[in-house]
Amino acid sequence: MKYDHIIIRYGEMSTKGRNRKLFIDRLKKSIKKSLADFKAVSIDSKRDRMYVLLNGEDHEPIIDRLKRIFGIQSLSPAIKVERDIEEIKHASLHYVKHLSKNIQTFKVDTNRADKSFPMKTDEINHSIGGHILKNTDGLKVDVRNPDLKLIVDVRKDAVYLTGEIIPGAGGLPYGSSGKAMLMLSGGIDSPVAGYLSLKRGLEIECIHFYSPPFTSERSKQKVLDLANVLAGFTGKMTVHIVPFTEIQKLIHKQIPESYTMTSTRRLMLQIADRLREKNEGLAIVTGESLGQVASQTLNSMYTINEVTNTPVLRPLITMDKTEIIEMARTIGTLDISNRPYEDCCTVFTPANPKTKPKLEKVQYYESFIDFSELIKEAVENTETIHISSKNDNHSLSFFDLL
Ligand code: ATP
Ligand code: MG
Repeated sequence: MKYDHIIIRYGEMSTKGRNRKLFIDRLKKSIKKSLADFKAVSIDSKRDRMYVLLNGEDHEPIIDRLKRIFGIQSLSPAIKVERDIEEIKHASLHYVKHLSKNIQTFKVDTNRADKSFPMKTDEINHSIGGHILKNTDGLKVDVRNPDLKLIVDVRKDAVYLTGEIIPGAGGLPYGSSGKAMLMLSGGIDSPVAGYLSLKRGLEIECIHFYSPPFTSERSKQKVLDLANVLAGFTGKMTVHIVPFTEIQKLIHKQIPESYTMTSTRRLMLQIADRLREKNEGLAIVTGESLGQVASQTLNSMYTINEVTNTPVLRPLITMDKTEIIEMARTIGTLDISNRPYEDCCTVFTPANPKTKPKLEKVQYYESFIDFSELIKEAVENTETIHISSKNDNHSLSFFDLL
């Protein structure tokens, strides 16, 4: 006997009323993509849950894939049985004997989702439980803390038997919340901000500012490697690499040192916003966390944010560094972020950036410089790289997260 189905339970999306169809379609698309190389499997999506039909495939590697997909609350490998009590009893006994190793106690837990089924919940429990007890040796019923809880899910189309409920990644299906641009540095924070955005159903494209020869090819590779980890959650990732050297040089020539960082950020944000518009995103995501460094005080954010009306999402804003590091470790970006290669901002960071930059001041300093041509050039010369994931990153344990 083998499992023939995987039950996929929706999370939060089941409460989303009219958007439900969109959510289900998105989720189905993610699942299809992730399981594309399992040629035999098919997916049956229903209003309140989805089924993966294994058609002979082993359930374990498929469950490993599904555990990474956002929008899934929980999963169960299951056996589909006809709605006939004799069939159900027979299959339940088989389940206990062949699929559940090393159990001494069990309990039958019927979920009568279809109320038209002729037997009541208790009757079904007793009938199956009695049949198992009669046909096994040494097995006992324990209603409080059984080794196996055999779930008998009575539905309109069939009955599904399962013994486990595996937590899914949670969140919302990829792309169901719209599209945003992630400002991705080589640091620890922004990849985590990207992960949380993906989890919340955003489609993400990355933007990285790059200043050769001040930053090396390796620092660019580091960012691509980080994007590749993010691609592991979605199947693909796009990275826009913006040449930023000329702008940084001009800033350092013309702006008083204590304001170079503020001005640099303002220019990054303007360029990111152009790229967002070009790629039809509706928000910009950063890895900023309140008070972490000079550029992330509220005064700084106020002064930097002035250049755009586009929503700037900051998923890490209230998190402590230790929490962010833990999450980076779990999602698999920490070791890459810890590689030593410099970032364009590290190279140009002044010794004493203003922690309370004044908007009027930075506007005044910038008023002597015409950045428009350089901004246009940077956007035009942006290199776009498409990464596709090979589904090989299964080392995660989502249950450690959040
Ligand atoms: P991170 O760990 O993400 O680099 P950080 O703590 O080093 O963040 P900052 O250097 O102040 O903080 O950067 C704040 C945010 O600005 C980053 O999280 C990222 O979203 C964005 N950012 C900084 N540098 C770059 C860059 N070179 N390219 C793209 N985005 C950047
Ligand atoms: Mg950084």
